[in-house]
Amino acid sequence: MDADDRARALLARAERVVALTGAGISTDSGIPDFRGPNGVWTKDPAAEKVSTLSHYVTDPEVRRAAWRTRLDSPAWRAEPNAGHHALVALERQGRLHTLVTQNIDELHQRAGSDPALVVEVHGTMRQVACLSCGERAPMERALERVRAGEPDPPCRSCGGILKSATISFGQSLVAEDIERAFVAAERCDVLLAVGTSLTVYPVAELVPTAKRAGAAVVIVNAEPTALDHLADAVVAGSISEVLPRLVAPV
Ligand code: NAD
Repeated sequence: MDADDRARALLARAERVVALTGAGISTDSGIPDFRGPNGVWTKDPAAEKVSTLSHYVTDPEVRRAAWRTRLDSPAWRAEPNAGHHALVALERQGRLHTLVTQNIDELHQRAGSDPALVVEVHGTMRQVACLSCGERAPMERALERVRAGEPDPPCRSCGGILKSATISFGQSLVAEDIERAFVAAERCDVLLAVGTSLTVYPVAELVPTAKRAGAAVVIVNAEPTALDHLADAVVAGSISEVLPRLVAPV
């Protein structure tokens, strides 16, 4: 049995799948990942600075660059692809228990995944949050202010620094979200990791957690990941081609 058949068999008999998705599931929607061959950081290592909270807070030029990048983000035009739709299919088969995503693009919800099953452990780029008072608002309203000439729009309520409602390096995760993800991983029968290099912690720790609790681990990714040695099946290839095949009823 090759890895493809093993993965199909494991998913076909699973009753509680926890999917863990990363940037790789959205590259076929036109949103580059960070660490893949065409990744944003692979091409421009300095871009990592924008995702580090201390740089963002202390350097107005980093913030202005971040707002310019947000204005031009391919995510605003992106549509879900066959990989996102495959996870909707798995949900409709009654097998998907929780969808933990490191992505901030909301393409799972746009594909039709039940928002109640989706845990966005790294937040969402479709909202902004004030770093002082915590107030949240739609990203589009802040982008309108940037287009109208404010290069670094402050919070309208308290004057604090606004940032996309995502988790930057150096910023705490939301405790309830990460706890929900770990509880789900402890209780699943298959952990399906898709399009993630499995190098960002604590999220990557979901894989050994599920494995220790007795689940099978299936990894779908173009390149080797940091945790392939824990997997029961590693399927290499393009997610939008591979995933629909893996979840098709046998
Ligand atoms: P990553 O960039 O570290 O890894 C992505 C992996 O996906 C790579 O190993 C790459 O080989 C693989 N990949 C890319 N396209 C693929 C395809 N079409 N088919 C198969 N495999 C493919 O991503 P990560 O592990 O999610 O970590 C990056 C962090 O950056 C996350 O925390 C996330 O919050 C953030 N991020 C999010 C988005 C998004 O929301 N779409 C985009 C970029 C980064």
